[in-house]
Amino acid sequence: MIRSGKDIIFASKLIREGKLVAFPTETVYGLGANGFDAKAVARIFEAKKRPAFDPLILHIAQFSDLEKVFAKPLPKLVLKLAEKYWPGPLTMVATKNRQVPEIVTSGLSTVAVRMPNHPIALKLLKQAGVPVAAPSANLFGRLSPTEPEHVKEQLTNIDYLIEGGKSVVGIESTIIAVKENSIEILRPGALTAAQIRKDFPGIEVFLSDTEEHIQAPGQLKSHYSPVKPLYLVEEEPAYLSDRSGLMVFEPSGFSGRMAPGVKVLSSTGDLLEAASNMFAALHEFESDENIDRIYAMKVKEEGVGLAIMDRLKKAAFRYSEIENYADVNVGCS
Ligand code: AMP
Ligand code: MG
Repeated sequence: MIRSGKDIIFASKLIREGKLVAFPTETVYGLGANGFDAKAVARIFEAKKRPAFDPLILHIAQFSDLEKVFAKPLPKLVLKLAEKYWPGPLTMVATKNRQVPEIVTSGLSTVAVRMPNHPIALKLLKQAGVPVAAPSANLFGRLSPTEPEHVKEQLTNIDYLIEGGKSVVGIESTIIAVKENSIEILRPGALTAAQIRKDFPGIEVFLSDTEEHIQAPGQLKSHYSPVKPLYLVEEEPAYLSDRSGLMVFEPSGFSGRMAPGVKVLSSTGDLLEAASNMFAALHEFESDENIDRIYAMKVKEEGVGLAIMDRLKKAAFRYSEIENYADVNVGCS
């Protein structure tokens, strides 16, 4: 069992000593270490079994910290985006400050930075007084944690877990690479391209072409996976066995059938709410002994639906080749 509680001061001391602390953010739980301490950061990779080519996000609590992590002069657009969306679920990638150790960025000349919108995270970061490198507090490639229990299920080798309830956004941050006059979305999230275009009309916002190059491991084809088979379906399966789970994101296209394995993630069709419940539902299916396969009904790939489908496709990737399975064999991918 890992040590857990609500002691932020104690946790910030641990961070300064080079230890590992899992903490809540509004997106998912993070596994943090002093981002300027290469040895402490190495322990993150060890605890998560994360490959070294996968760079980390640095978390800061004050705008003045931007200068510590990014190279000067700071791109003006970075400052404007920070003012508009921070604290919040947006991670910005730009040229790194020399102070940032190579292990944080996997040798890249750029670094990813975010200011989380969560009172515990902000207090921890302020008290620690250093940028905190923090990927999601799960084993590499597995489901992201949105509750303290999820962290305890996967990580045993950490020094402290700050308990802070459920993550309200529940899906990882939108990651963007910021250039002079353009923004490339490396990983979709709750902050959508449409919103950024609306707020910054003069700036070109485009989606990264993941087929051409992998910049962010969030861009790997298989990621965020449950240990049970997950299938994506266009339509509600006509027949569901007793041992199947069904994830429904919105009521449209769903018959309303009641069955123990059915989880409706938003009864009002609010996709932000559905996204926030997605990982928790997958965790429940994963630990439910009565379930041995999971179906997820696809959503339209627009707005936050893009982020939902991004995570679902990666979670289902290992199973996408299987065509004949027991319940339905139409409309899957
Ligand atoms: P995680 O914290 O596990 O959600 O992963 C953080 C994501 O940020 C990963 O997909 C990283 O590859 C991505 N990332 C971190 N640094 C950079 C960078 N310099 N350039 C592009 N992507 C990055
Ligand atoms: Mg992760």
